Amino acid sequence: MSVASLLPWHHALWQRLQSGQARQAHAWLLRGRSGIGKVDFALHWSRAWLCETPTTDSMACGRCSSCNWFEQGNHPDFRLLTLTQEDEAEGSTTRKKATQISIAQVRALGSFFELSSHRAQRNRLVVIHPAEALNNSAANALLKMLEEPPADMRFILVSHQSHLLLPTVISRCRIVDMPMPTREQATHWLQSRGMQDAEQLLDLAGGAPLQLTAGQMPEAKQTAQITQMLAQGERLNPYTLATSCVALGMETAIDMLQKWVHDLLSVRLAGEVRYYRHEQLAALAARADLAALLGLEQRLRQARRLASHPLNATLQFEALLLHYMQLFTLKTA
Ligand SMILES: [Zn+2]
Repeated sequence: MSVASLLPWHHALWQRLQSGQARQAHAWLLRGRSGIGKVDFALHWSRAWLCETPTTDSMACGRCSSCNWFEQGNHPDFRLLTLTQEDEAEGSTTRKKATQISIAQVRALGSFFELSSHRAQRNRLVVIHPAEALNNSAANALLKMLEEPPADMRFILVSHQSHLLLPTVISRCRIVDMPMPTREQATHWLQSRGMQDAEQLLDLAGGAPLQLTAGQMPEAKQTAQITQMLAQGERLNPYTLATSCVALGMETAIDMLQKWVHDLLSVRLAGEVRYYRHEQLAALAARADLAALLGLEQRLRQARRLASHPLNATLQFEALLLHYMQLFTLKTA
């Protein structure tokens, strides 16, 4: 494997971390926002560390028995601790993702610890993701391991909310701030994977391209359609759009509307866009009635508070959208 298999915005970091000194730590914390490829990096790193014949770039060779085990997900010297799927209720067929990494999962590492590496002179590796999901007792159990790890053991913690980690755990780790891709890198990368409207979708994902590929935003296409409709201003069809909003989910749709309205206000008052780089936004902002726009922002905030128990979602969206359309008809020249 060559460095080309890394995400493009990880190349410089990869080179930096391959120096002999950097490799000496036994615990690492990769932190940074969600959707920028932290886990991808952690897995590349793990695989390279375990590889028997790494390349000159310190990448995994992709051919040795260690690389094969890793590929097949059964490497004897590697453990991934992450959120598991659990049954929603007894007898239920639906499964949901656990919200915590449990102490049982951490304790299961105990037996991994006791065994020596399957291969002489090799590393063993544990990746924990997302590390903030360790509950309190799990984090404390991990802390004990971090304090006295066997010499051949390495930990990589991955977190997008590292402020939730125990300070004692953080202090045991070498911290790596994971880089955000530039807009150009992210757009290009999405386009190379066949994504259309990459720029527009990237804005919705706050510049974090893996949000769009990891299924974290399956609604990305729907949201793109909704912004297209919002861009029509007073000419939009509130009944069609209300239906789309309901389909997207009350909270997500209100969040979108709030961001759109936030951008209209922000463009109008400060000339800045935060969420949507839509070509129509500036023109709409210039035409909108400012008092009505502030009123709509207020109203969306209230709607958000009630979003978890809406009385009638469709009617509520229709009312909000009629208010939105009035922004562009109230203004007197
Ligand atoms: Zn290999």
